[in-house]
Amino acid sequence: ASPSPLVLVFGPYNGDGLAELERRFTVRHQKSRTLEGLSEAERAEVKAVAVAGHLPNETMDALPALEIVGHFGVGYDGVDAAHAAERGVAVTNTPDVLTEEVADTAVALVLMTVRELHHAESHARSGEWERSGPYPLTRFSLRNKEVGIMGLGRIGLAIAHRLEAFGVKIRYHNRSERSDVAYPYDASLEALAEQSDILLIAAPGGPATEKAVNADVLAALGNEGILINIGRGTTVDEPALIEALEQGTIAAAGLDVFADEPRIPERLRALRNTVLLPHVASASRDTRILMGNLVADNLSRWFAGERLETPVPESEKAGLTRRQ
Ligand code: NDP
Repeated sequence: ASPSPLVLVFGPYNGDGLAELERRFTVRHQKSRTLEGLSEAERAEVKAVAVAGHLPNETMDALPALEIVGHFGVGYDGVDAAHAAERGVAVTNTPDVLTEEVADTAVALVLMTVRELHHAESHARSGEWERSGPYPLTRFSLRNKEVGIMGLGRIGLAIAHRLEAFGVKIRYHNRSERSDVAYPYDASLEALAEQSDILLIAAPGGPATEKAVNADVLAALGNEGILINIGRGTTVDEPALIEALEQGTIAAAGLDVFADEPRIPERLRALRNTVLLPHVASASRDTRILMGNLVADNLSRWFAGERLETPVPESEKAGLTRRQ
């Protein structure tokens, strides 16, 4: 084995994370998210890919010596881990190190959306307070609310624990009921929406959750209902959401993620009853450093023949947890 394997960093990548990879490996950075400019010989040398977001299967398949993909981020819906496993390629992600940061952001998004704090802030900053008086009373409050979480995993549970301190009730929907929590479980997303004042999405993206939050779920949430999404934009039927917000089928939405980032539909941006964040839930320097280090640690362990720190379930199932 080469003492310094060639790692391909595919697409835009965190600066600290890139520097960490460069300290440990020979790195080739393809900012363009293509293999352009890489000779046949160079492609044949690539043993690892580090990527934040989408890695097409064709790219994976164009790298014959590829052994491992390190995904920067816990949500690895941009990497086909089952396809990788078929090829004997391991995939890792970055769970846990970002959980608290994402949960903090989710709570901030809930409070902003419920109490219109983004509009109140503009009211103060613009001088409107002095000119025309106090900001109007908000339609909603967190008092006596019930929050339904779709995706009560690491992040969902960290959000639930924070929200409990606010005195709100929690319920949830996963594919299967958890035996280690006392929160009420709803077997369907529609049932959860029906029971909730605020529906909060913290589930993974990918085909299994695609457009799960559809017109029926939004109708079940109801005209006093609020949708918060910090999971993946693909989980929400975005045109149906826009329709529901315009028609008053639901009251408001707070979104950190969108179906086609960084594009946000003009109609969504024009709505006053939305809070829109540019996918920043984990985006602090501290947390991103931890994520970058975890990507690098997984690659180091792999090439040292040690057990991976955070293989994704597909790789674990295929027994791809250490280099043979
Ligand atoms: P976990 O795997 O710990 O939790 C995922 C939860 O979702 C589990 O409780 C799981 O339960 C549930 N779930 C999975 N599939 C479905 C489904 N088809 N229907 C209903 N529930 C489902 O992941 P994390 O908590 O660490 O991360 C969750 C997601 O948050 C990530 O995948 C990512 O997409 C998103 N995220 C967004 C960020 C942002 O910047 N906005 C930052 C970090 C993460 P069960 O298996 O029983 O279904």
